[in-house]
Amino acid sequence: MSITEKDRQYLWHPYTQHKTAAPPIAISKGDGALLWDENGKEYIDAIASWWVNPFGHSNRFIADAIYKQLTTLEHVLFGGFTHEPAVLLAEKLMQILPSNQQKVFFSDNGSTAVEVAIKVALQYFYNKGEKRTTVVAFENAFHGDTFAAMAASGISFYTQAFAGMFIDVVRIPVPVKGAEEESFAALRECIRNYQVAGFIFEPLVQGAAGMVMYEPGHLDKLIEICKENQIITIADEVMTGFGKTGKTFACDYLSQQPDAICLSKALTGGTIPMAITTFTQKLFDGFYSDDINKALFHGHTFTANPTGCAAALASLELLQSTVMQEHLTRVNTKHLAFQKHIEKHPKVSTTRVLGVIFALEIKIDSAESYYGNLRNKLYHFFVENGIILRPVGNIVYILPPYIISDAQLEKVYQIVEQALEIA
Ligand SMILES: *Cc1c(COP(=O)(O)O)cnc(C)c1O
Repeated sequence: MSITEKDRQYLWHPYTQHKTAAPPIAISKGDGALLWDENGKEYIDAIASWWVNPFGHSNRFIADAIYKQLTTLEHVLFGGFTHEPAVLLAEKLMQILPSNQQKVFFSDNGSTAVEVAIKVALQYFYNKGEKRTTVVAFENAFHGDTFAAMAASGISFYTQAFAGMFIDVVRIPVPVKGAEEESFAALRECIRNYQVAGFIFEPLVQGAAGMVMYEPGHLDKLIEICKENQIITIADEVMTGFGKTGKTFACDYLSQQPDAICLSKALTGGTIPMAITTFTQKLFDGFYSDDINKALFHGHTFTANPTGCAAALASLELLQSTVMQEHLTRVNTKHLAFQKHIEKHPKVSTTRVLGVIFALEIKIDSAESYYGNLRNKLYHFFVENGIILRPVGNIVYILPPYIISDAQLEKVYQIVEQALEIA
């Protein structure tokens, strides 16, 4: 049996309706921005494998760090024990995160990073004996697929089966151009009507919504309103973190500092599943007590896995290297040039660029659904042409590994332009 046949027999894939989906492509090798399937067909990974891979596939530098750690200390429990890779990684993150971030909590993936942040926000007020149980989130937000993360997420087809089973979340509009005042007013209204504990947001770019972008000054304003009302602000940097927006974190564009930050995806350079939620000293102190019941009773078996920490340390070294910073600038410059070239195309309604993220919206006559025909037609066109892109409805976005070559990037642009002809 081929890999694909065995897959059909045994596996259940994410976000997949198995009755109607095309069989998955079996990938057997990766190198840099390229992937090869079992028949040797080559693909450019133009979405960094769901935004996790900044430095290319099968990166030797990270692989060596992982091997070294695996053969020194692969894993040890983190309750009552600690280890050097965890403290070094925490120390390193303190140097590059907004200066108010003081404590690092480890988990396994973006959803758990969010779950931890929301639980901390809710328990912080519980520990103080203050009744605050509502979380504010943006419309069309995506924060993950576990329950609190789903509750905070606003894209309904991910969550509709579970409606009525969630923690209390109220939604406000994203302060995109023209909706700023509405967004500020909606937040103020929420604060008047509910006991708001926290506000969670994807800073500057809503990834799963289709790379929807908004200005830092408007997020500053929302954070400011929260601070005036002692509401805990949570920046979900799971997608935006580690260079995607052109700066190390999207929060680096802000004047205000959030109280908690969620990190995952590119944290380990796309190698080992790991996540981190960071907090201010003030939040940590809200759990610091002689009373055991005030502790944060949350943990995962593989918390602070040393191998993951070693991969993250190696990744951060790569990210901060001059070469990688030059790649970030180079990809951004090329995106801007392509934007200029394509924005007047009759089939294009809008384009946007931030850092290594490029997105364009295709003009459509009727409202196409997220998994609508156009989306599928585009997806298969890209795959046939050896480009891995996953359009969101009528939105095509590119978020390549930073090390993608100019020639590879040109090919991606060329195929995207050709795709407009079939749209
Ligand atoms: C992907 C994503 C998550 C969820 O991360 P998983 O590792 O898939 O659980 C949460 N928040 C944002 C902003 C994301 O892009």
